[in-house]
Amino acid sequence: MNNPKCPLCNSFDTKFDLKAKDYFMLNGNSPDFHVYCCETCKNSFTSPFMSNEELGKYYPDTYDCYKSHSKFSGFLQNLKSLNDVRIIKKTMHDKNKNILEIGSGSGMFLNLLKKEGYNVDGVEPSDSGVSYAKENYNLDLELAYFEDFEFKKKYDLIIMFHVLEHFNDPVSVLEKIKKNLNKDGILFIKVPRVDSWGAKIFRKYWSGYDLPRHRFHFSKNGLIGLLNKYSFHTILFKSDLYPLNTVRAINYYSMFSKNKVKKIIFKALNILPHIIKLCLAILFDIIMLPFKSGRMSIIVQKK
Ligand SMILES: [Zn+2]
Repeated sequence: MNNPKCPLCNSFDTKFDLKAKDYFMLNGNSPDFHVYCCETCKNSFTSPFMSNEELGKYYPDTYDCYKSHSKFSGFLQNLKSLNDVRIIKKTMHDKNKNILEIGSGSGMFLNLLKKEGYNVDGVEPSDSGVSYAKENYNLDLELAYFEDFEFKKKYDLIIMFHVLEHFNDPVSVLEKIKKNLNKDGILFIKVPRVDSWGAKIFRKYWSGYDLPRHRFHFSKNGLIGLLNKYSFHTILFKSDLYPLNTVRAINYYSMFSKNKVKKIIFKALNILPHIIKLCLAILFDIIMLPFKSGRMSIIVQKK
């Protein structure tokens, strides 16, 4: 049987990489999903390629990427967000700018930008995110999938944090964004990085795969290449630490590894308190910095 076609660039020059299950939401009680890498565009994708309806059942109500698992994780998330606000302020000095966040979750990040004086809008498909943002930050997010979202104005900055990998057609998403950005408008993206040390070491237990919800797995060159193709040029690229990935990998190995020795070692590590595991993971992430961190941030400008 031929390898599947790359949904991003339509190349058939694709290679099977790994087989995994839904460990995050279904505890491994799912069919197998395959990851293929594309030799042409250097990104990877999940196979079989599911429609939005088919994939819907893998998004239970409890799926919430924005929920912190502990006070310490919440504190780290807050530090990261404040750093992203700093980057945005450095990139856009004028406060009289329109910002849209695609997949704004609970509205936490948009609220930080609103406090800085920017005009903010958000589009979010989950009911719980939209109500949380209204109740806690008085933000009126639009309840919609971005594919159905109708732009009422153009924006100077569009933000997509850990969203692009979920779409079934990132190319049309990028085209829609480009059309609705002002001249010199900026796009700020964060995604897991498939050419990171975490993906190479943990393989199917790397939580950046999050199968089958992540349909695409971008490498640095692959993402930059894709954005260049749609007339965006890079103004900032940075690696982001991803310590929670190591904590999750420890948990997955302790539960699912077929190697008895590994299972015993990871079970022993897994009984440590969450905060200790997270601190060890941060230390490990810092040591591994030269080998490409598990997440990446990129800021690009419309040409
Ligand atoms: Zn491709």
